[in-house]
Amino acid sequence: MKKIGVLTSGGDAPGMNAAIRAVVRKAIYHNVEVYGIKYGYQGLMEGNIERMEIGSVGDIIHRGGTILYSARSEEFKTDAGQEKAIEQLNKFGIEGLIVIGGDGSFRGAQKLTEKGYPCIGVPGTIDNDIAGTDFTIGFDTALNTVIEAIDKVRDTATSHERTYIIEVMGRNAGDLALWAGLADGAESILIPEKKEDFSTVVNKLKRGRKRGKKHSIIVLAEGVGSGFDYGKRIEESTDLETRVTVLGHIQRGGSPSAADRVLASRLGAQAVDLLLEGKAGRMVGIEKNVLVDHDIAKVLHEKHTINDDMYKLSQELSI
Ligand code: ADP
Repeated sequence: MKKIGVLTSGGDAPGMNAAIRAVVRKAIYHNVEVYGIKYGYQGLMEGNIERMEIGSVGDIIHRGGTILYSARSEEFKTDAGQEKAIEQLNKFGIEGLIVIGGDGSFRGAQKLTEKGYPCIGVPGTIDNDIAGTDFTIGFDTALNTVIEAIDKVRDTATSHERTYIIEVMGRNAGDLALWAGLADGAESILIPEKKEDFSTVVNKLKRGRKRGKKHSIIVLAEGVGSGFDYGKRIEESTDLETRVTVLGHIQRGGSPSAADRVLASRLGAQAVDLLLEGKAGRMVGIEKNVLVDHDIAKVLHEKHTINDDMYKLSQELSI
């Protein structure tokens, strides 16, 4: 393989730039030409493709977002769209593609691989919702953003003796809420993977107040529902003054943490090695701090699971 391509797709995540940098530098290290495709699959179908050099990825390792930009494309989900994409790749002589993104992006990569075009997936999403890897690129940075925000909310919660619901991202996964809740000593952590009775949550709040607690923090994953609805329910059934903070897209931005930069560098470089070994339809990941790769089809079929021990611990520590 003498020419490879790289794109970022779907929701962006801090650390994607570090992954692009690793792909470009590792390819050039192996004397392979590398092409950057802008705006994900949409840009690929339109031939928005540029040769990248060592200097193209200078000074980006610390920057959030993605220098290749991202997009969502309905057209690419069709056979015609995928064939258009392969036509463009062939036109540029690009023999393999690295896709940095989440599960939707991997579905696209899987389709191209099924059509005979080799792709490797690199998991980049703050949601940490991909099977076959302990961590996705961006999760650690988003987690730190959430914690910084909760620490600030905690100050004002104490001053006013309020109960705060913090709604965090994660789509259908509860990882971000679970880790943030544990790291911030939340009273309750509400995640889609575990059912917590409303009465249990309320009783815990009341118990805390009786003990003299000045504030309460509940971390709620967006996959559970609206933080505002939950806050309203608490206010209606208790005399606790409740406020809701929806952290929203600040969780997707910012300079990537050291952990994300290192993870992105390792995964991006590993993706290049797999392509050069002739592998296709694989996703790189990290398990127990060891680099692994799995069949993308299998990864898409399986569900990412939360760490049950961590959930249990969060409950034991928030009595
Ligand atoms: P993420 O990768 O963050 O999960 P999306 O789910 O929005 O983000 O997917 C990103 C893009 O991947 C979509 O806009 C689409 O172009 C492509 N994609 C998603 N699902 C499929 C599919 N089933 N077949 C082909 N392409 C897909």
